[in-house]
Amino acid sequence: MQLSAIDTSINTTNTADEWYLNIFNGCQNSPTSFPNYIIKNNRLYRYMKSKCVLNTEFEWKEVVPQELRSSIISENHSNPLAGHLGIFKTYRRLAQKYYWPGMHSNVIEFVSSCDICISHKHQNHSTLGEMGRPKSCSRPFQMLSIDLIGPLPCTRKQNCYIIVVTCCFSKYCLLFPLKRATAEIITEILEENVFLVHGIPSTILMDNGRQFISSTLKHMLEKYKVPNIHFTPKYTPHVNTVERYNKTIMTAISTFIENDQRVWDLLVPKIQFAINNSVNEVTGYTPSFLVHGRELVTCGSHYIDTNVDQDIVFIPRDHYAENLGVLSSIFNKVQSLFLQAHKRNSAYYNLRKKPAEFNVGDVVWRKTFYQSDKDKHFNKKLAPKYIKCVIVAKKSPLVYDLADMNGNPLGTWHIKDLKLTNYKY
Ligand SMILES: [Zn+2]
Repeated sequence: MQLSAIDTSINTTNTADEWYLNIFNGCQNSPTSFPNYIIKNNRLYRYMKSKCVLNTEFEWKEVVPQELRSSIISENHSNPLAGHLGIFKTYRRLAQKYYWPGMHSNVIEFVSSCDICISHKHQNHSTLGEMGRPKSCSRPFQMLSIDLIGPLPCTRKQNCYIIVVTCCFSKYCLLFPLKRATAEIITEILEENVFLVHGIPSTILMDNGRQFISSTLKHMLEKYKVPNIHFTPKYTPHVNTVERYNKTIMTAISTFIENDQRVWDLLVPKIQFAINNSVNEVTGYTPSFLVHGRELVTCGSHYIDTNVDQDIVFIPRDHYAENLGVLSSIFNKVQSLFLQAHKRNSAYYNLRKKPAEFNVGDVVWRKTFYQSDKDKHFNKKLAPKYIKCVIVAKKSPLVYDLADMNGNPLGTWHIKDLKLTNYKY
C-alpha cells in the first residue's frame, strides 16, 4: 500500500496554512482550550463524533493543512484504490479519515474537473419499456447478480474477462479476472470463492449468455439447491440489480483500463476494495459495513496509537456484540431505502419511457453494442447504431427474442434496446 502524501510530508507544521498553525500551536501550548484536538507524532487530529453507530474506529480525523489537500483528494479519487468514484463516494471516503474546512466543496471542484471521470460519464439514452417489479431481498448475500464483462483488452497475464458478482442488498462486489469465460471456470469461481465464502444465495440474477445457461453451472446450482434463478437479457443492468450498479464498476475499471490496457487485471483487487469501502448512495452505508458489521481500515497509518505494549490485552467482546445488535434496525432501514429507490427509479424511468409492446413478426430496430477492435481496424464510433431485425418470440412485454432479416437468431433483448419505426399504438 502506498503511503499518503500526508505520511511522506515529514512535518505537517511546515505549512503556511494559518488556520492550521493557529490550532496546532494553540493545542500544543494550551491543550485544554482545544479539547477536540490532539497532537500525535507532530500531526494534528480532530475528534468528530462518528455518524455511524457501530463505527468507533474512525472518530479521530487527521487535520489536513492547505498544501496537502489536493494530493489527499487525488489519493482518494484517482488512485486504483479509490477507483475514480463520484463526488458523494469520494467525499464520504475522505471524511472518514480527514478533516478540513470546506472539504465538500473542494471535492466537488476536484471531481467535476477530473478529465478521466468526464470522459467516462455515461450518456442517458432515451429508451422503451417500463421497469419491472423489485424482487425481495432483506440481508447480505441473499440475492446475487452475476455478470460477465468482456472481452476486454488481453493483459500480460492473458486475462480478457471479468466476472462481477454483486450482492444486491449491500452492493458488495467481487471481481474476478478470467483468461477464458468458460462455464467450467465460472462455475468453479462461484462455488469456491462466492458460495463457500459467503453462503448459498436464495436468488441469482444473471444474463442468458451461454456460460450461464450451461449444464455445468446448472448442476452446481442444483447441488446447492439455490431456489431462484432469474435470467435477464443482455445490457440491462438496471433491470438486473434495480439501480444501475454495474455502471459504477465498469466506469471504475474502464478509467484504469485506459491508462494501460495490459495491466488492468492487477488493479481489479484495488478497485473492488475501493467500491466495497465507499458509501453507497442508495443504502447510505459502505458495502463492507453491511456485510461485516464494521468499516475496514484502509491503511495502517490510520492507527494513531502506535506504541502498543508487548502484551496483548483482549477487551471484552460484549460491547462490540451489543453494537452489532443495531444491525437489524440498519438492515430494515436499508431494505426500505432499497424499495424507495426502486420506486423512485421506476417512476423516473417510466416517465421517460413510452409504454410499448411488440408482437411476433414485428420489425424493429435494435441498438448495436460493438467493441472496437484495433487489429481488425474497427472503431465502434463508425459502426451503425441500430440494426434491423424481427421479433421471433415474446418472453414478456419487456423481453423479446430477435432474429436478423435473414432469420438468424440474435438472442434475447430488453425492449429498452429496441427502437420504434412507424409503430402504431
Ligand atoms: Zn476521476
